[in-house]
Amino acid sequence: MNPDPETPFEVRRAEIAGNLEKVRARIATACRSAGRDPDEVTLVAVTKTYPADDVGHLAALGVRDVGENRDQEAAPKAETVAAAGVEVRWHYVGRLQRNKCRSVVGYASVVHSVDRLPLVEALDRARDEASRAGGVPPLDVLVQCSLDGDTRRGGADLADLPALAAAVAARSTLRLAGLMAVAPLGESPDRAFAVLARAAADLRRDHPMATLVSAGMSADLEAAIAHGATHVRVGSALLGTRPLLG
Ligand SMILES: *Cc1c(COP(=O)(O)O)cnc(C)c1O
Repeated sequence: MNPDPETPFEVRRAEIAGNLEKVRARIATACRSAGRDPDEVTLVAVTKTYPADDVGHLAALGVRDVGENRDQEAAPKAETVAAAGVEVRWHYVGRLQRNKCRSVVGYASVVHSVDRLPLVEALDRARDEASRAGGVPPLDVLVQCSLDGDTRRGGADLADLPALAAAVAARSTLRLAGLMAVAPLGESPDRAFAVLARAAADLRRDHPMATLVSAGMSADLEAAIAHGATHVRVGSALLGTRPLLG
């Protein structure tokens, strides 16, 4: 690291490097407490509202997985990042509309937020069209579950998981990779992620390869890791507090 950063570029790189060190330390501590190997936990840096340059900083600092929650923002950002020769894996983690699926499969390697059957169909069609242009591997798909039964904030009801998982698994264009959830507001993340862990164990009985558990954000990654998260999605702890619209 440059010990005496001067340009805004260097200042920002140093700031993100410091934040990344703290987040990695939190992950390591949480893994130690849970008796887990830190290599089992992938850090997905959520870069929404932050510019393509920040993705470049993260990549230069060794972060290979980045997440976005809105296609309107993610698609041009992914293009800018690719044009700069920076290679990252894009994770789409936000609410998804059917008419955005074609765009999303153009850059995303993983979609975390599939919570209803029409999305499975739309992603399948989009991936199928893309694969005709050239051999693309199946898209990794996580089924997002609602942990408080309030599906208006995204996520499928737990009772609907088996049917959704089966629909994803039946598509050769998609690979059922696991489950995702966001801890409900005002509820103990510990209790919520325990529910998710049980749902993930149930899923693996029918789909042994669906081993990913995407859970935990800046405020609750420790609880998620304690309950078996394989992917934590961290934004503000790495890049700073977003303006409210983020
Ligand atoms: C924004 C966002 C995150 C990251 O949240 P932070 O609190 O900034 O870490 C994680 N997951 C999803 C789905 C998000 O939209």
